[in-house]
Amino acid sequence: MKEIDLKKQNKILWIIISCVLIVTIATSVTLFGVYYFNYGTDPVVEEKAQNFILLIGDGMGINHIKTAELYNNGSLLNMRKLPVTGEVMTRSLSAGATDSAASATTYATGEKTYNGRLSFKDGKNLTTIAEEAMANGKKVGIVATKVATDATPAAFLAHSNSRHNTAEIASQIVASDVDVLFGLNNDELKALASSIQTDNRDYCTSFEEISASTSEKIFGLFDEDIPNIGRNTLASLTDTALAKLENENGFFLMVEGSKIDSYSHTNEMDKMIDELNGFDAAVSRAVAWARKNGNTTVLVLADHETGNLKIPAEATADQISNDWFHSTGHTSQNIHYFGYGIGVNSIPALIDNTDVYDIIKQLLF
Ligand SMILES: [Zn+2]
Repeated sequence: MKEIDLKKQNKILWIIISCVLIVTIATSVTLFGVYYFNYGTDPVVEEKAQNFILLIGDGMGINHIKTAELYNNGSLLNMRKLPVTGEVMTRSLSAGATDSAASATTYATGEKTYNGRLSFKDGKNLTTIAEEAMANGKKVGIVATKVATDATPAAFLAHSNSRHNTAEIASQIVASDVDVLFGLNNDELKALASSIQTDNRDYCTSFEEISASTSEKIFGLFDEDIPNIGRNTLASLTDTALAKLENENGFFLMVEGSKIDSYSHTNEMDKMIDELNGFDAAVSRAVAWARKNGNTTVLVLADHETGNLKIPAEATADQISNDWFHSTGHTSQNIHYFGYGIGVNSIPALIDNTDVYDIIKQLLF
């Protein structure tokens, strides 16, 4: 009798253990699936905008923004005055934090990929929002403060297994139908100078040449850094791009404050703040243009956070220090988005990076 009871008890125990195991495995598989295959909130945006301006502060976490505000005597950055704000999850398919290539790929295509890939996944090119805009008769502009073949600008115009295939990326960018490209030059782009200059596209290497150009399309590629104060800034390049892109079919413009990331990698706070202020000035120009135009959406965000920047409690401007960085790499912290214009009220408070493409696509097409 006793032995039978024991067997029965064991049986019940095994059933319980099996049930717990099944539930645990099922939950894990579901969570894995949600994480790896269906990340987004699938936001529905019913409004239509003629133009979309995406401004990406590379490496810009919320504490980068708050540190710049502390430095600027507490006045809010322009991006923080925009009517809608929320957070974006930034993971790529790689373990750990995303890089700029994977992140820009996701913004440009709605697909997650592995770090280092440019609008490329599983041996296939992913069509970008910039390519779709051109195919739909819209103009496209790409503006960055680092080399134009770098990961963020390149992900919108090129496809590559590696962000380091610079020559391949340069030739794809030159072969693309992009209307405006502003950024720093490099040897790979210079080697293609004769292909850049065409009947309807000017190859400019200075602000003077850009101002003088009357061609339909324009590449402005500089040897020297784009300054954050004075006349020839990212903000003025944004103005120039907007003037070139304005047309009745609309446009897609991406503007990147590229070196917020670089100076966060090197933990150089002063330079990071300078670059962030330069980027925020470009945000202000984009929003002013959108306000006047009335048929435009502006979305400001980052691709990921860089430097694990933390602001000590009760910190004051004179205490701002390079020591506030706690890493020289990227982190997986959510970044913040700021929106102005048509459709931004439809954006959920927490979105995945894959949602950004869906939002732009629904607005533009
Ligand atoms: Zn970086």
